Amino acid sequence: MSEIRISGGAVHDPANDIDGEIRDVCLKDGRVVDEVGPDARLIDARGMVVMPGGVDIHAHIAGPKVNAARKLTPDERRDHPVDRTAALRSGTSGLVPSTFTTGYRYSLLGYTTVVEAAAPPLAARHVLSELRDTPMIDKAFLILMGNNQVLFELIREAGGAVSAQLRDAVAWWLEATGGYGVKLVNPGGVELWKQNNGNVHSLDDDVAGFEVTPRQVLEAIGGAVDELGLPHPVHVHANNLGVPGNAGTTLETMRTLAGRQAHFAHLQFHAYGGKPGGLPRSRAPELLDYLSAHPELTADVGQVMFGPAVTMTADGPVAAMLRDLGAEEWFNHDTEVETGCGIVPYRYRASNYVHALQWGIGLELFLLGRDPWQVMLSTDHPNGGSFLSYPKLIRLLMDRAFREDQIGRANQRAIRRTALLDGLDREYSLNEIAIITRAAPARRLGLRDKGHLGVGADADVTIYHDRADREEMFATPRYVIKAGEVVVEEGELRLIDDGVLLSSHAGFDPEVVHVLAPLFGERYTVAFEHYPVRDPALREPARVVEARS
Ligand SMILES: [Zn+2]
Repeated sequence: MSEIRISGGAVHDPANDIDGEIRDVCLKDGRVVDEVGPDARLIDARGMVVMPGGVDIHAHIAGPKVNAARKLTPDERRDHPVDRTAALRSGTSGLVPSTFTTGYRYSLLGYTTVVEAAAPPLAARHVLSELRDTPMIDKAFLILMGNNQVLFELIREAGGAVSAQLRDAVAWWLEATGGYGVKLVNPGGVELWKQNNGNVHSLDDDVAGFEVTPRQVLEAIGGAVDELGLPHPVHVHANNLGVPGNAGTTLETMRTLAGRQAHFAHLQFHAYGGKPGGLPRSRAPELLDYLSAHPELTADVGQVMFGPAVTMTADGPVAAMLRDLGAEEWFNHDTEVETGCGIVPYRYRASNYVHALQWGIGLELFLLGRDPWQVMLSTDHPNGGSFLSYPKLIRLLMDRAFREDQIGRANQRAIRRTALLDGLDREYSLNEIAIITRAAPARRLGLRDKGHLGVGADADVTIYHDRADREEMFATPRYVIKAGEVVVEEGELRLIDDGVLLSSHAGFDPEVVHVLAPLFGERYTVAFEHYPVRDPALREPARVVEARS
């Protein structure tokens, strides 16, 4: 492997308290090192900005729902073919790019690690197959556990408490799938949607047929993940996504999990005041107040960007709600006894009250939040917009004049119901951008070797021209280095890196299979012994991150 010295750049490495200091960064054998030899390749980074590679804590890039979205939007993809070259595979682009193109595009933006945030465990083979075909980035996936009938049984038996059996079952599921963490999506609600197009509306609603409540699912599985000491805490898509007035549910969910580590996905979609069926308003400031008082909780924003999007979610009833807003096509799918899925192509319009309010609430979360380590950048790709819009989002945060111009173009009735007209003059610094796009996500994912440039860190580095136009700057890194090799130069992919699968592991009592096997036999069509993914071609090579306990 090559040795590289990145010389003379302004280094932004907030995890190590380095804020724009001019210093060299040395890379050898895929790691950041103290020093390299005289023959090391020299990258002259004078006048440039050096950051760790980007880490996306919440996106949708692989698995059956992503593939279904590709099939559902041929019109959106056929106009953006990506040609094969000597080094690159062909593919399609657009909002839901094909696998290889997804990896290429993330790399061209300076991202080196991406988390697929919602994978049905039953579809782990599909998810792994697609992640294997997504080069240039290290990748992990979170498995869906909030509507699993077998886990409901274990939760009911334990009366909602965290039982040893439940802890073992969660650890077994990660082992069986190669997953990295645990995701809860509308706990209990998706099961009711699958039963009779129902939903839960509060944390104490009964999940018919199972005698469990969303609150018990949150407490039991959130508690199990916490007690197992998994590298990433439970990742929560709360109940009532998108419903006016849902901030109350979100706060109640936060209170239920408070005291344990938890991450709240796409908080913007859960920050609404008003009444169900009426017009939403913003309650972002209240959620931020709660987060400030609870450092054990974090969130990503799920910023809406005006323009086309594809909503894709395990939250089936949310997709039905969007369909009812006039969608021309939608997709609904039940994954046996463990989760659901809905997809609706969508467009956010600046002139639309609700869309402008969503956009404004996202910006409020960024701009009113006190601690950037707690509120991270995401668009819930491709739900709020494509990951390709991150550079524009960064400009909205860094450039007040640009932001004021964009605010002026949005529905003013909505904007007046946010804090955006209250003289919000905050402009993110480069270090704050480095926090919300790499340092904080890596830390929250428990990836100790990522998101920073200290000695021993992964040699994933992005080098930008320091341009006044921050959108242009972040859209076109000068160099991207992955695992110690220069993969992007002058906006072109120069070298293909496969990236590794990141999995987590927690010890469990192997006897748990004797509990799970009969429950599988009663409910799944797949035989228990066929469920775990054993194919080495899918599982290896992986980097396994061990649980703390
Ligand atoms: Zn999501």
